[in-house]
Amino acid sequence: MMPAATKPIPGGEDSRHALDALYRALPPVNELLLAPPLAEFGSPHGRARLLETIRRVLDGTRREIAQGLHSSASLENLVRELPARILEEMRRNSRFSLRRVINATGVILHTNLGRAPLSRIALDHLCEVAGGYSNLEFDLERGGRGRRDVHAESALLALLSQTESAHFEQTHRAIFVNNCAAATFLAMHSLARGRQVLVSRGELVEIGGGFRIPEILAESGAELCEVGTTNRTRVSDYEKAITSETALILRVHQSNFAMYGFVERPRLEELIALGRRAGVCIFEDQGTGLVETLEPCGVRDEPTIAGSVARGCDLVAASGDKLFGGPQCGILVGRTEWVDRVRSSPLYRVFRADKLNFAALEATLIQYLYGDPESVPVIRMLRTPEDAIRRRCEDIAGAVDHADIILAVTAVKSIIGGGTAPKSTLPSHALALKHAQLDAPALLAALRRLDPPIIGRIEEDRVLLDLRTVEPEFDRLLIGTLNQRVDSWRGISGEPS
Ligand SMILES: *Cc1c(COP(=O)(O)O)cnc(C)c1O
Repeated sequence: MMPAATKPIPGGEDSRHALDALYRALPPVNELLLAPPLAEFGSPHGRARLLETIRRVLDGTRREIAQGLHSSASLENLVRELPARILEEMRRNSRFSLRRVINATGVILHTNLGRAPLSRIALDHLCEVAGGYSNLEFDLERGGRGRRDVHAESALLALLSQTESAHFEQTHRAIFVNNCAAATFLAMHSLARGRQVLVSRGELVEIGGGFRIPEILAESGAELCEVGTTNRTRVSDYEKAITSETALILRVHQSNFAMYGFVERPRLEELIALGRRAGVCIFEDQGTGLVETLEPCGVRDEPTIAGSVARGCDLVAASGDKLFGGPQCGILVGRTEWVDRVRSSPLYRVFRADKLNFAALEATLIQYLYGDPESVPVIRMLRTPEDAIRRRCEDIAGAVDHADIILAVTAVKSIIGGGTAPKSTLPSHALALKHAQLDAPALLAALRRLDPPIIGRIEEDRVLLDLRTVEPEFDRLLIGTLNQRVDSWRGISGEPS
């Protein structure tokens, strides 16, 4: 960055004059503001940012002069390059913070990497709806005010009815909020505030990101009534705890952990039967939003949202961006009387989903109903056969010829992630990389600094890139990148870009 001094300035009176001359050689701010490449920042905000950048770059140069790092010749060069340097700095500052990355971790629902990617169709629909006005809350038939939920409600109910040969359109309703945590909180707040909620001690869990069932319950104003024990809870435990104060029974899907050994909990059907007998609402925090069983992918016992509704849960909450494969939102679906009570809560207005959500949600639902479910990226990634992934790895490995990179194809296990099916893995393949000069952490970091960043993981001193979670459209980019010298990867050798 700093030009080497060709002639250090010695101390004394002369040198002070020489220094003054160097300072005077710097162009004034006004002149730089008018320099041709910087004229593109014409808006008031752009000018303000530009002014700040110019001052910062000039201050830096003055410090270099004060440290004796410049001769008149080196400064002359620098001054010529100043507008370009300032432009580069402006571009660097205006780069997006939130960017696309390539997820080569093999974790399909990676919460840190934004969970479910949206389908192309959902994206197109989202752009169309969000880029203009829409009938978000406008009834086109009557020409008056409408409800936003209608845009996803009937498709969701149709989807839930279709898979379990039941019909919920007449008896059930759905609303959509920020996320599943909001859906659960809202249900507790509007249905059980000031009353009791029965929860098994084995389900007083933390889901991740600080979502703890006991704390959410306390915040909602409902009173937690613990039943059973950590490892064993029976229907009779719930039955004994029911009083006139009981507002509902909360069932929480044990999504992100598994218990083995001397464990027991009632089947959902048993709880529902109890709820019917006692006239108590059964609410399940289902979480995953899984539509169709994962058995064909070799994942056993992962419950579906359709199954919960079909078994007779009064109310079910799920995430939109886990196994459902849609946008971040919370789905709350159940019998009309319960959903209507939740909807009439003033807090529904606080948590309701926005139009971008509805656009992506409806498009995703329509893929399941009328289109190809495999156009939903999460579903496609779950179902991609191991062989197809291995072949892609081999093709890439065969096309990379780089003296410093040792590349092998290795069998790995992908995981579903997002707090789902913690016991289950999917057989997959990965590119295993070693670099002649870089150790695995340095190579992993170098991959992260690319544009788009590539996120891998380390196993046995090698960087693994599991292609199950990498869209095939990126294969060429991987080949191109791995064929380049690592120090020519953007941003690696110089300043962090
Ligand atoms: C993931 C999950 C949540 C939280 O969902 P968000 O959409 O992240 O708010 C709540 N409950 C269960 C059972 C979950 O699996």
